[in-house]
Amino acid sequence: MRKNRFIDLEETYGAHNYEPFDVVIHRGQGIWVWDVEGNRYMDCLSAYSALNQGHCHPKIMAAMFEQAKKLTLTSRAFRNDQLGLLYEEICEMTHTHKVLLMNSGAEAVESVIKAVRKWGYQVKGVLEDKAEIIVCSNNFHGRTITIIGFSTDPTARKEFGPFTPGFKIIPFGNAKAFQDAITPNTVAFLVEPIQGEAGVNIPPDGYLKQAKEICEKENVVLVLDEIQTGLGRTGKLLAEEHEGIEADITLVGKALSGGFYPVSAVLSNSEVLGTLKPGEHGSTFGGNPLACAVSRAALKVLLEEHMVENSAEMGAYFLEGLKQIKNPLIKEIRGRGLMIAVEFYPEAGGVRQYCYKLIEEGLLCKDTHKDTIRFAPPLVITRKDVDWALERIEKILKAP
Ligand SMILES: *Cc1c(COP(=O)(O)O)cnc(C)c1O
Repeated sequence: MRKNRFIDLEETYGAHNYEPFDVVIHRGQGIWVWDVEGNRYMDCLSAYSALNQGHCHPKIMAAMFEQAKKLTLTSRAFRNDQLGLLYEEICEMTHTHKVLLMNSGAEAVESVIKAVRKWGYQVKGVLEDKAEIIVCSNNFHGRTITIIGFSTDPTARKEFGPFTPGFKIIPFGNAKAFQDAITPNTVAFLVEPIQGEAGVNIPPDGYLKQAKEICEKENVVLVLDEIQTGLGRTGKLLAEEHEGIEADITLVGKALSGGFYPVSAVLSNSEVLGTLKPGEHGSTFGGNPLACAVSRAALKVLLEEHMVENSAEMGAYFLEGLKQIKNPLIKEIRGRGLMIAVEFYPEAGGVRQYCYKLIEEGLLCKDTHKDTIRFAPPLVITRKDVDWALERIEKILKAP
């Protein structure tokens, strides 16, 4: 079938809630994908960092096949022989005490909102229905009604209300604003260590450390949404390590399955998850044996193949290379590990034009908001591959 036929089918029958580039991908391996016409591209988006381990990693694939042949779903009405092993492995890897498994990232966020509210009423002693959760402007935590209710992106919210109450929005990267927003009813601070969807916004050094100290002093739960920054993306297993802290609760998803399957988790260092009692929360597919087997393999290869270290090394090399590009329209080039962004001034007229050209050159990337291009290849990228990417990026992004 020809490329345009696939595009027509999507346009005719699909909801238009995305505006994809017209590349029809057929196959993927490592950092590379091939379209239906056989053209090869380097994937510098990695499905928003769900593919840290690269496309179709053979060991994760093998684990998925093996498990699919034996058992895929029990529901949590019964136990299975994969769940406890995944719990133990995640806890050892991330210094966690309790885990709650869900499917999508948004579900992990919803779950933590429920859990910290419960904790607020049962442990902190907040009066019922008064709990407040503090979040940051320009956040991205998912797409459910509750979550978009505390988004500051008009496109995400408009005409989807009414929304869930109980959230307070403060500027990102400002510890004083956080301190000032706390009331006796504050139960949690939900924040991304680096705001990915907002355009790789890196907060000032020490921000998370200060937030952690304030949380401890005020008896507020620090919840880090590491669904995008986690599992090696920023050059550490978790981005919190850059500031030498441990959040009370960490959310992971995306690369937790290496892109094979939706798996997310709430990782809790505090007593928060302990407040959830049987029947109060759940998910039919959450913690199913197929998901667990896939996740176990995805975490294993991340460590075994030193992808976290490679992310730090290749990320620094990539960033340095990008900084050599001369173009007065470029406002800032920033990144941590393999989470990198090139921001243009508005005078450039938006960066989607550059993305089209890069795709023509064989490099998949995406604009995030109007003026920023994000580069986030799988963490298995080599120096040679980075050189290949830099050559093409420089050709398109340098001043004419
Ligand atoms: C992608 C993302 C989510 C939502 O995950 P879904 O699996 O799409 O629901 C939440 N938080 C952050 C930081 C993300 O990047």
